[in-house]
Amino acid sequence: MSSFTPGPWRWFDLQPRNHWAGIAVVARDPDAREHERDIATLPKGSEANARLIAAAPDLLAIARLYVSECTNCSGVRDVPCDYCEHIWAAIDRAEGRP
Ligand SMILES: [Zn+2]
Repeated sequence: MSSFTPGPWRWFDLQPRNHWAGIAVVARDPDAREHERDIATLPKGSEANARLIAAAPDLLAIARLYVSECTNCSGVRDVPCDYCEHIWAAIDRAEGRP
């Protein structure tokens, strides 16, 4: 399984720099071979989806911080916790666990 490109991610409208009307989500290239690495390309009018995709690394980091600071389970995955159950489900989805 591959790991995701570290944030921050940003989005921008491809026009007027390109002929294709759409939106790009990019991240700084962690290997510094290129200035930025493509994350996603979306059709024009998908600004809301682009914002959500670009925020994903930050949201995942906040979710992990929240569960780590939980006073009920202390971020221990195997401890049943009503506060963190849904957050762990979202983290699992983001990290590709069923
Ligand atoms: Zn918890």
